Amino acid sequence: MLVLDAAFFRRWMAAMAAAVDREAGSLTDLDSAIGDADHGSNLQRGFAAVAAALDKEPPATPGAVLALAGRQLISTVGGASGPLYGTLLRRTGKALGDDAEVTPGRLAAALGAGVDAVAQLGGAKAGDKTMLDALIPAVRALGESSFGAARSAADEGAVATVPMQARKGRASYLGERSIGHQDPGATSSALLIGTLADTAEADA
Ligand code: ADP
Ligand code: MG
Repeated sequence: MLVLDAAFFRRWMAAMAAAVDREAGSLTDLDSAIGDADHGSNLQRGFAAVAAALDKEPPATPGAVLALAGRQLISTVGGASGPLYGTLLRRTGKALGDDAEVTPGRLAAALGAGVDAVAQLGGAKAGDKTMLDALIPAVRALGESSFGAARSAADEGAVATVPMQARKGRASYLGERSIGHQDPGATSSALLIGTLADTAEADA
């Protein structure tokens, strides 16, 4: 069975930094439609800082990798997404504790705690057209099935935000005019889950 160590989590964060670099332009385009056109650059700055910090002093446990990544996002990203993604990773890391290796089931449960913390911090729930619309179904699919199922659920969750009206964050100021656009944060969350699945599949 696949066991996930600190090096796995560092590879995941490096893959996410590369994906955000590649997709920064399209994330910012999505945010220019219903926000302030900074989501791509926010995450590019944030995950570049994550990758640099993890390279400089590689933490020894999965939990410590995610805790360091979360702290970097909170301190380097000004937008709403920095504290929200930072909380997701910090809380997930905390739930993983000090173990040197974790199972996929353990990660699914820890991510569930992370997603709950995001919902608590931002006050959003499923259907509000936020990152949670990709994360909630992805974490459920990871717990019930596989990394590949989590990737599909996250991608479908991001696309499902198109007809939604935003009820949280900057996009909610647009009211009904937010309908018809894919949420930038749900799109970047699908990248986060997609790079997790890529990293797991490369190991399998
Ligand atoms: P800002 O809105 O401050 O410019 P970003 O553009 O980086 O920050 O991130 C916007 C994304 O953050 C949105 O697309 C949405 O997915 C997510 N978001 C905003 N507010 C919330 C919230 N209260 N709960 C969950 N996610 C949110
Ligand atoms: Mg923005």
